Amino acid sequence: MDISVIVPLFNEAESLPELAAWIDRVMKENGFSYEVLMVDDGSTDDSWYRVSELAAENPAIHGISFRRNYGKSAALYEGFAAAQGDVVITMDADLQDSPDEIPELYRMIVKDGYDVVSGWKQHRKDNKLTKNLPSKLYNWTARKVTGIKLHDMNCGLKAYKNEVVKSIEVYGEMHRYIPYLAKNAGYARIGEKPVHHQKRKYGTSKFGLERFTNGFLDLMSLWFLSKFGKKPMHFFGTTGILMFLLGGIMTIWIIAAKLIHQAQGVRFRAVTDQPLFYLALLAVVLGAMFFLAGFLGEMVSRSSSSRNDYNIKDRI
Ligand code: UDP
Ligand code: MG
Repeated sequence: MDISVIVPLFNEAESLPELAAWIDRVMKENGFSYEVLMVDDGSTDDSWYRVSELAAENPAIHGISFRRNYGKSAALYEGFAAAQGDVVITMDADLQDSPDEIPELYRMIVKDGYDVVSGWKQHRKDNKLTKNLPSKLYNWTARKVTGIKLHDMNCGLKAYKNEVVKSIEVYGEMHRYIPYLAKNAGYARIGEKPVHHQKRKYGTSKFGLERFTNGFLDLMSLWFLSKFGKKPMHFFGTTGILMFLLGGIMTIWIIAAKLIHQAQGVRFRAVTDQPLFYLALLAVVLGAMFFLAGFLGEMVSRSSSSRNDYNIKDRI
């Protein structure tokens, strides 16, 4: 099979028939063999009923229905697990992404040899203040942290080699960073394609401004995991040692000053009367805490079942 299209959806009943017809038309025009996996993320409207209708009309359409709303990442995770096509395409259900992009995305994966191609909503049709501006800042940070030069990391429209989606695990709200997950799994050929973007035709957006704070925190977590996930002590230990050194130097300074003054017979303020004493104390206590966090981190990562999961490319 050439293509699997994965559509995560949450309360998008009105859009589904149009979307399914559009995908089907594009696939037929280009002679692709395909499947559409509609993952209903616990919708409370008629979405699942629509999916079942569409699946009955078209054998290429399949559906997965969650018992409750787990989030877009969960929907993508189940879609990735089921996808059989050589190229896997993810697409939002709200008709903001255009199925007309599919042939070119497919070509970039198969002919140009990209592992991942991410859409870029160059002319974004969303609210300027709440989405477009924060999104620019967010993407700038993401580029700096991940080292992946994408303008639009969180675009719902993306294409992957099948192998890539089977090698990564999307969880929590990590759907925003799938290219970074792919890069960490060793798939570094990541491309970008400007894509058309439409205004939302039906329904409402499912994400508010909290996407940016949560997105930033997730980015920090992923950065930490990719750098120190398997050796947390290297991070906490280094910070701990620096703290200890700082505290140690300050302590020696305090004691030396006290001793010199005493030897000279000068009256000098008590050790506990000077600010440096508290700073030294703080540094040493923080140092000990960092070490403790490091040891705990090592114990956690040692008992992780994925501590020796490596993505092997080839054997001869
Ligand atoms: N979505 C989902 N589960 C959720 C929230 C959203 O499957 O909990 C789907 C939603 O139905 C849509 C896609 O994720 O197909 C993108 O959501 P939305 O269009 O609301 O995001 P926006 O375009 O506003 O960034
Ligand atoms: Mg949308």
